[in-house]
Amino acid sequence: MPKKIPTFRPAWMLKPEVKKKVDQARYDRRPDRREDNAFYTGSPWRKLKTSKLRQDPLCQRCSTPERPVAATIVHHIKERKDFPDLELDWDNLESVCASCHSTHHGYGNKGRAERAGASDGTS
Ligand SMILES: [Zn+2]
Ligand SMILES: [Zn+2]
Repeated sequence: MPKKIPTFRPAWMLKPEVKKKVDQARYDRRPDRREDNAFYTGSPWRKLKTSKLRQDPLCQRCSTPERPVAATIVHHIKERKDFPDLELDWDNLESVCASCHSTHHGYGNKGRAERAGASDGTS
């Protein structure tokens, strides 16, 4: 009599890289996240972002005439989650480089301490 081998695999058996992908997929499926993607890939935002970077191509935080730093990100001064009405408001936009942007949002604040002393004290 052939015995059926159980195919069930507990979660801990997933390889770490597989698990990461699974988590990411789960995150992308969250309704708020989906809305976010729709906003950032939507053409009103992309047009606005392109014109902002065209008008202010340098980081508005750390670029100086002596050491220009190209901006790659358009940041919402008042965050979208708190001020959704201002998400397409020109005056709410700031051109920043990736480093200033991650510092602002607190992503990976490693090795950027030297910048703190150079800031002009405004937030
Ligand atoms: Zn910067
Ligand atoms: Zn931002």
